[in-house]
Amino acid sequence: MLDMTPKEIFERKALRINPAKTCQPIGAMYAALGIHGCLPHSHGSQGCCAYHRSHLTRHYKEPVMASTSSFTEGASVFGGGANLRQALKTIFQVYDPEIVAVHTTCLSETIGDDIPSLVKKAREDGIVPDGKYVIHANTPSYVGSHVTGFSNMTTAMVKYFSEKNGGRTSAINIVPGYVEPSDMAEIKRLATEMGLEAILFPDTSGVLDAPQTARFSMYPKGGVKVDALKKTGSSRATLSLGKFASEAAGALLEQMCDVPYQCLDLPIGISSTDRFIEALIEFSGQTPPATITDERGRVVDVMTDMLQYFHGKKVALFGDPDHVISMTEFLVDLGMKPIHVVTGTPGKYFEHRIKKILDGKVKHANVRAFSDLFMLHQWIKNEPVDLLIGNTYGKYIARAEDIPFVRFGFPILDRIGHSYFPTTGYRGALRLLEKMLDAILDRLDRDAPESSFELVM
Ligand code: SF4
Repeated sequence: MLDMTPKEIFERKALRINPAKTCQPIGAMYAALGIHGCLPHSHGSQGCCAYHRSHLTRHYKEPVMASTSSFTEGASVFGGGANLRQALKTIFQVYDPEIVAVHTTCLSETIGDDIPSLVKKAREDGIVPDGKYVIHANTPSYVGSHVTGFSNMTTAMVKYFSEKNGGRTSAINIVPGYVEPSDMAEIKRLATEMGLEAILFPDTSGVLDAPQTARFSMYPKGGVKVDALKKTGSSRATLSLGKFASEAAGALLEQMCDVPYQCLDLPIGISSTDRFIEALIEFSGQTPPATITDERGRVVDVMTDMLQYFHGKKVALFGDPDHVISMTEFLVDLGMKPIHVVTGTPGKYFEHRIKKILDGKVKHANVRAFSDLFMLHQWIKNEPVDLLIGNTYGKYIARAEDIPFVRFGFPILDRIGHSYFPTTGYRGALRLLEKMLDAILDRLDRDAPESSFELVM
């Protein structure tokens, strides 16, 4: 399909081909699902909501619930206020959520609907029942990416719920970033094993990986509770994991409630997980229990066994900026050479951070934020790689260039089960190591002549 991609590179300013990102509202919808009893609401046309729901459903293989203001031509002319009122009325009467999280779309942003005023009026008119909540985030899709949308909705959780009551609890807040439900559970487990009480938000574990019970539940048991969100303003500190997806929420909490925050890389791979554990040590004052040190020891052991295969291998990777930053560092720790690195999300910090990680270890690398898969493909054509790492969309490049491919990040639309296995923490590192080496050795086996088709590696 991509066989005709030309090798010659022409700089493009106003055109993206096969972008390495998607819509802001998708991230906002995913974040909203991480609040218990929450119905995400898309303030725009039905088509946007249908696309966003189906994209998430295809990744998580779970039904994703969301409602829409169902704009038609009339809303485009007169604004979407009446649609939102009608939607809120129906939502609370029929679906009875604890909270509705409204996000905007390109159209409602262009119209300029003032969501807080519309919701205030709806509440005054009794459309929003007492004890129920409506929050909102502006998510114009012509700015940023799905990661920006996730960040905006997570920040809205702080804006609407975090309370400053003068007291301080021993709990810490953790903003886990745009990661899988299993990652959120893993991050929580590590904090708990370190003896900490952690308020993790959003938290999609138990929502988008809920067990099959043969009974439909509109609101699965998982998700951070509103009561816990209110307490985030009294916590002793916030750990924001990932600058792009999580820092804004931590910064707002500090500004609103004087809760100091630290922003760390996503704990993917050994170095960034070490830094995460070090931060937990600092907060808990405890040394890590044997469960955690054993997990780390296993990763070091497996890395040692695998280094002979990884050393010097050239890698191309793309995806969400926080994921790619941590993954690049992990690859460098393994002696690999990430030579083509792309994210579709804009932000100068990305290129700055990646170059810092590669400094002195990889001589020449192409690194770009706000770029696309077309550019990545062209780079690969000019300097081939041994491994490609990224979301499902990478499979077309992998096929065209015959490169071993590891699926990593969001979205993964053509495989099932990935969202149940974390890539964060030491357990996640172990899984990534296995996936990468399997891909490399499968290729070695495929291409081996009969005389060196080995049983034992
Ligand atoms: S880019 Fe805008 S119009 Fe298109 S689906 Fe996303 S929010 Fe809707």
